[in-house]
Amino acid sequence: MIKGFYDRYMYSPMPEMHNEMIPVTDGCSYGKCLFCDLNVGKSFKVFNLEDIKEYIRKRAKFYEDKRFVPSKFTLLEGNALCLKTDSLVEILKEIRKNFPKMKYVSTFARADDVLRKSKKDLKLLKSLGLDRVCVGIESGDERVLSYQQKGVTVEDQYNALKLLEELGISYSVYIMLGLGGKKYSKEHILNTARFLNRVNPFEIVVVNLVIFSGAGLVERIRTGEFERITLRQQIEEEIMLLENLDIRTIYNGTHKTKVVPITTLIPDRKEDLVKILKENLKKTDKELLEEERKKWKIWDKE
Ligand code: SF4
Repeated sequence: MIKGFYDRYMYSPMPEMHNEMIPVTDGCSYGKCLFCDLNVGKSFKVFNLEDIKEYIRKRAKFYEDKRFVPSKFTLLEGNALCLKTDSLVEILKEIRKNFPKMKYVSTFARADDVLRKSKKDLKLLKSLGLDRVCVGIESGDERVLSYQQKGVTVEDQYNALKLLEELGISYSVYIMLGLGGKKYSKEHILNTARFLNRVNPFEIVVVNLVIFSGAGLVERIRTGEFERITLRQQIEEEIMLLENLDIRTIYNGTHKTKVVPITTLIPDRKEDLVKILKENLKKTDKELLEEERKKWKIWDKE
């Protein structure tokens, strides 16, 4: 929560969770993905530029007498890269001015936010410190992206990541287990692995589909149109994903939504992860469910 900007938890990229957070927007400019609750009950909003700059100055003041001064920053929230380049330039300059030791600024972005910007603008943003973009890819399967109303194609996502790569802007990606439901489970995982093998994220964050009340997917589950995978299938999907990945990166499967938290560098220790997952498959459905319930109870208390 950041007083004056958010009255709830904020969404920030997992690889950047220890950065200094800069409030830029409330929600996501797109807001139509079926599984997402970021815009539920409210409209997307870009905070006033002067308020954002004032916030940055206040944070710099706060750190004036502290031993630790942040050098890594994250622009909150769903896709701050949707802002006009001029506004982003002002924000990045304000961060640099107040935190001269700034190493980089990161942000969540949609593939179409990246593609909408010219190379010239992206290069300018990079030169001002924007250097770690986190893209919610979710799936490498066209049917899954389309069903979940992601609003971009597999090719869009590929082109966006390749553009970042060409310009030397590093990126991480989010992948979502269970997003194909029971029907497209296998296609979702195999095509996602194929997609990931063609790109170069410094980190892959693997999360599991969570049904947020108010998200569009709820109704489709209620009518039986979308069938959720089981906890066991979630583990099986992750094994399939890992076994089909052929990429050197950080594999981060520690998100709270996951039934088995795992992380390592792949491919070096990939087999260890698969082993852990296979061990978990030996548990009964009841045991898996109990562990899941325990985890959610802890999460609710946080
Ligand atoms: S692009 Fe991301 S933040 Fe925006 S609606 Fe889709 S999942 Fe939610």
